[in-house]
Amino acid sequence: MIPRLKPHLDYREFAAMLRLGGPAVEAFEQAFASKFGVGHAIAFPYGRSALLAYLSASGLRDREIVMPAYTCSVVAHAVVLSGNRPRFVDIELPEYNMDLGLVEAALNERTGAVISTHLFGYPLDVHRLREIVRAAEARFGTRIAIIQDCAHSFEARSDGRSVGRAGDVAFYGLNISKMITSIFGGMLTTDDSVAAQQLRAFRDANFRPASLAKQVMRPAYLLAAHMAFSRPAYRFVYWLQESSGLLDGLTKAYHLDDEIHLPPDHLDLMLPVDARVGMVQLSKYDEIVARRRRAASMYDSLLRDRLPWELPRLLDGATYSHYVIRVPDRATVMQEMARRGIQLGQLIEYSMPHLPAYRRYAGDEDFPMALECSRMTINLPVHASLRDRDIARIAACLVEVAAGK
Ligand SMILES: *Cc1c(COP(=O)(O)O)cnc(C)c1O
Repeated sequence: MIPRLKPHLDYREFAAMLRLGGPAVEAFEQAFASKFGVGHAIAFPYGRSALLAYLSASGLRDREIVMPAYTCSVVAHAVVLSGNRPRFVDIELPEYNMDLGLVEAALNERTGAVISTHLFGYPLDVHRLREIVRAAEARFGTRIAIIQDCAHSFEARSDGRSVGRAGDVAFYGLNISKMITSIFGGMLTTDDSVAAQQLRAFRDANFRPASLAKQVMRPAYLLAAHMAFSRPAYRFVYWLQESSGLLDGLTKAYHLDDEIHLPPDHLDLMLPVDARVGMVQLSKYDEIVARRRRAASMYDSLLRDRLPWELPRLLDGATYSHYVIRVPDRATVMQEMARRGIQLGQLIEYSMPHLPAYRRYAGDEDFPMALECSRMTINLPVHASLRDRDIARIAACLVEVAAGK
């Protein structure tokens, strides 16, 4: 069975984990900064921890943090747990990012920051965002930070410029469902040396070394993930997953529940084994993105005008962390594709202001686009280990399912 996602691993990640000695985390931070052409990179156990640390270290509290209504729930969790309030803004199609007209209307004297998410790897227009934020700062006489959520975009480009460098800071997620992985992990980058120093000091004062048990389990987790996502095993894994939920910890990176919370180890320092794996993955980044772009352009040429549904836009600067289509009857399409040996994803299947835990942050606004997308999106596999003939088969099956055959 073709899995909906798959980390791009080989013997090199496993060999790297066995290596000993050396400041692995610092080396990974430096390599990350130099790979993405940014002054400083600071490692965290999760992307959400990086966001939480930044908000706390920069003294933002009791402020409104403007963010998309359609995004990963952990971002809002970090905002609330930092003592701030999310101010949701509806998204705009076809690119799934915040409607900048609504961002402008949402800014006020209580705004502390804007989280600029580049969902599914589509760059938000960061130039226009910056103009809107600067105008609001002048109007309200306050300072508003711009935080780039690069969990899906890494170095996606807007106007030829990397989105990661277009704000005060950027953060990245590095778990096994992301474009490159350090098993778990997150990173924050900035060109501001003072902010970097402040954040590093905050992290070193508030984060602690991971438990020995966690260190020991890490290689086993990566090996289990590697095997679980392999083709022959995946049919069994899929069946187990559908029928028991036993493997949720491995295959579902996010658990949707009604609680606003962060994992118990969210204040751990990044592990050296994680950093060693991340280092190997960093060297594969260009290949991984190139293959995702190739998959997206193949889908486009195989599916355009052959489906009754709307395809995503082909864009040079996008990284295609996900190739997303909207369909009216998601469950049936997913089921029919699974019958043909292809698993589709349904990211993101919720709208933040419609989640019970977040309804009180929604005010009396409507978020029609976020709600529509939460019900209709499916994503096709685009992982780097797909061969051209897999992509052709996925496309052919989808055309068949769309025709009701
Ligand atoms: C994955 C993700 C994050 C953060 O990831 P962590 O799991 O905390 O490392 C942030 N934003 C988006 C859009 C994501 O998909």
